[in-house]
Amino acid sequence: MSSYSRVIHHATSILCSNKGSLALQQLHRKVFQRVEITEDDFWYIVKKCSRFVAVRNRERTDEWGTDCVIVAKTSLRLCKNYTKQDCRDCQELHLCKYFVYGNCRFGKGRKQCKFSHDVRSEHNYTLLRECTLHELHEDDLFLLLLQNDPTLLPEKHTHTKYSTGRSTTD
Ligand SMILES: [Zn+2]
Ligand SMILES: [Zn+2]
Repeated sequence: MSSYSRVIHHATSILCSNKGSLALQQLHRKVFQRVEITEDDFWYIVKKCSRFVAVRNRERTDEWGTDCVIVAKTSLRLCKNYTKQDCRDCQELHLCKYFVYGNCRFGKGRKQCKFSHDVRSEHNYTLLRECTLHELHEDDLFLLLLQNDPTLLPEKHTHTKYSTGRSTTD
């Protein structure tokens, strides 16, 4: 892995384990523990790479990296036609969506889920590689997917183990 892609990989997994976003300064400090990179170089990568979105805070500060929050992003989606069993070839993940939520009833017990729980299947892995998400931990990947795809929000998600960072009013 080049140092460039190592930075992107580490930053992505750090963001995911922090519910998908972190202040630029904190993120840089955590990445720096794994890859020595200057603040300027790090900010350059964050700005250039479509994986990250920088959201400015309202208050301006003098301390570097505290006035903006970095959010992890991906354009990768779960295939909507897969569970209707009428998709053969697409550029989206073929996975059981309940597995991604973390609450599929099947797969662990005797009864097999009829949809894939395999992020490393040929179809899925190829897509993950293209998006350079293939080295991400499964839980991190799922958080990233849930956070980026509004249509994935479960009808009731009080029992899922993931927080999407959205606040509900119920
Ligand atoms: Zn598909
Ligand atoms: Zn399933």
